[in-house]
Amino acid sequence: MISTPLTIALSKGRILQETRPLLEKAGITPTEDVAKTRKLIIPTNHENVRLLIVRASDVPTYVEHGAADLGVAGKDVLMEHNSPELYEPLDLQISKCRLMTATAVDYQEEPGRRIRVATKFVNVAKRFYASQGKQVDIIKLYGSMELAPLIDLADQIVDIVDTGNTLKANGLEPREHIADISSRLVVNRAAMKVKHETISEIINHMKAAVEVAG
Ligand code: AMP
Repeated sequence: MISTPLTIALSKGRILQETRPLLEKAGITPTEDVAKTRKLIIPTNHENVRLLIVRASDVPTYVEHGAADLGVAGKDVLMEHNSPELYEPLDLQISKCRLMTATAVDYQEEPGRRIRVATKFVNVAKRFYASQGKQVDIIKLYGSMELAPLIDLADQIVDIVDTGNTLKANGLEPREHIADISSRLVVNRAAMKVKHETISEIINHMKAAVEVAG
């Protein structure tokens, strides 16, 4: 039995599906069907351990503020959130994809002209284009980024690419690779100190499970 109270933030969908077997290897099993329930706080086989179901992009916020001790979030979300309060001890090697720039197939950059970039990854995009010495105007979108170049809202997008099929279906192509993405275990730094033994044990079990899966 885990005696220390622990709260773990997860998002529904791919991350939850792929994280569940890893949590089970650490001896943590939800006592309800997580995919079906509408509850947002889900009990587990340990009286003291609960799961919070939150939006993927909110996981770092819950963990940063200590509302959750641990969480699982994509590296894309963590790069965008960019918080020093989050300790990132383990790459879970799941939900892998790439963060890329993309443009219409026939698009060519005009030297000296500002580039209009549509993305939900505003901070990542700003840092990336700045590192390239390029002047950009960022247009924040919440989804369907692929549409922006098609209707001349933007020249380029910064988005997640897996197979590249979504880009291709919309007449776009990937251009520059920004980062390889996978889901990461994140831990609140204060919780890591106060609940060190319990959290370390969970990390070690999950690490072993990742290595076996790898
Ligand atoms: P694809 O057509 O396979 O390149 O998939 C691209 C779309 O799927 C993107 O617009 C993303 O929103 C989504 N996607 C693919 N892989 C992931 C992932 N690992 N995490 C989050 N979103 C993803």
